[in-house]
Order: sequence, then C-alpha cells, then structure tokens
Amino acid sequence: MARRKKIYEGKAKILYEGPEPGTIVQYFKDDATAFNAEKKDVIEGKGVLNNRLSEFFMTGLNQVGVPTHFIRRLNMREQLVRSCEIIPLEVIVRNYAAGSLSKRLGVEEGTQLPRPIVEYCYKDDALGDPLVTEEHIAAFGWASQQDMDDVLSLALRVNDFLSGVMYGVGIRVADFKIEIGRVYDGDFQRLIVADEISPDSCRLWDIETGRKLDKDVFRRDLGSLTDAYSEVARRLGVMPKNTQVTKPTLIN
Ligand code: C5P
Repeated sequence: MARRKKIYEGKAKILYEGPEPGTIVQYFKDDATAFNAEKKDVIEGKGVLNNRLSEFFMTGLNQVGVPTHFIRRLNMREQLVRSCEIIPLEVIVRNYAAGSLSKRLGVEEGTQLPRPIVEYCYKDDALGDPLVTEEHIAAFGWASQQDMDDVLSLALRVNDFLSGVMYGVGIRVADFKIEIGRVYDGDFQRLIVADEISPDSCRLWDIETGRKLDKDVFRRDLGSLTDAYSEVARRLGVMPKNTQVTKPTLIN
C-alpha cells in the first residue's frame, strides 16, 4: 500500500501531501496542548469535532465571499485544503477582554472592548509566539503593507461573520485567532484564511450563563472539553445525529 507523504506535524494537526498539486490533506488529531505545550492531553473525539466545526466556519466564510483554504471534508478527521504560504503571524481579534490581553493590560476578563482589537503574534514556538507590531512585521519582511491591509480587512470580516453566526446560537465570540496564507493565481497573489477555525482557537462564551465552550475548559480544568465542543456543534447543527465522536474507527 502506498504511503502518503507527511509534510508537517503540529500540535493539533498533521498535513499530508494532497491528491492533486496545490492541495493538502489536513488531519485533525485528538491532542490538546496549552501554554506552549507545557500542558498536554489526548481528548478523544476532539479532532472529529474540530474537523466538522472548521468545515462549518470555513464553508460559511467562502459562501459570504471571504476566501479560505477549505476545499472539502474528506472523512471524520480529514479535510482537503488549498496549499498556501502561511504568513508567520497569529492574527488575533478580540471583542471582550480575556486571556493574555487581560493579563497584559489589567483589564478584567469579560469586559466588552470599545471596538474589536486586532493583534499580531509572531509564530515561533521557541519564543512563545510574542506579540509584535506592524513595525516589526514590515522591518523583518514577514508581510508587506499591502498584505497587512488585506490581513486586517480579512480579520474583521471573519470577526463579523463568526460573531453573527455564534450570536444566533446564543454564544459570544470573545476572541479568536486565525492564520492567513498567500496563494498565487497566475501573476497575482491573494490572501486566504488558512489553518483552522474551531473552539481550539476561539474563546466562546454562552451568552446566558457565561459557560466557557472553548479550549479554556482544558487550559483551566473546567470539565469535559468534548462536552463543551459538542455543545457548540449541537447548537450549530453541525454533527449529524448519532455520530459517536469518541469511537475510534479504522480509517479515521
Ligand atoms: O492567549 P490569548 O488571550 O492571547 O489568546 C487569544 C485567542 O487566540 C484565544 O482565542 C486563543 O485560543 C487563541 N490562540 C490560539 N493559538 C495561540 C494563541 C492564541 O488559537 N497560539
């Protein structure tokens, strides 16, 4: 049996060479990590849920005209995506204070921000993904000014979409992280939303109860992560009925 080529293995996903040039198979693992992988566990079923949820958000974004890398879901744990050159930045959009912003600026978690705040972190595990400014980005050539104008516009469009969709199911999007990639169409370069959008990379709070429905459940030991992610999937109508996310299968 032919073995497919692994391109990259990260903390939560594996990338394999896709069936056609310019495509990649993105496999969602059950591994959960936090605090730059100081805290680790395997959460059975997380990969299945994130594959579905990322499919849901990326498909929706594509439909409203925000380009993403998503092509189609292949199976329970894998999706086919367009290969792109990732800009080495984590693009964070915040609507409510939480996490590192609360720590850094002393703003109480849960405080609504006067407007969405976009932050950039340089993607480097060894450095702990430090916060950087557009000055660093331009000086070190990680992205051009034109790229950054497009990145900001994409980030705010994703925020509007995600916040609206989640509001519809009673969930507040406190913040989220996206990654942006470059693709080339002939002589032209375009930016697209890449990586994943899932409760691993967002802060999602139930509007009525404040219950956390995201990776903070794991980071802060607040209970079952799969219960939280399943609740998000259930409200969005994402998981087909009777899907047993924790049951291992041979191919998935
Ligand atoms: O930790 P911090 O408050 O900066 O995180 C902001 C948002 O970005 C959170 O939703 C978090 O889950 C996400 N994030 C991420 N990957 C990272 C850092 C942050 O998905 N490496």
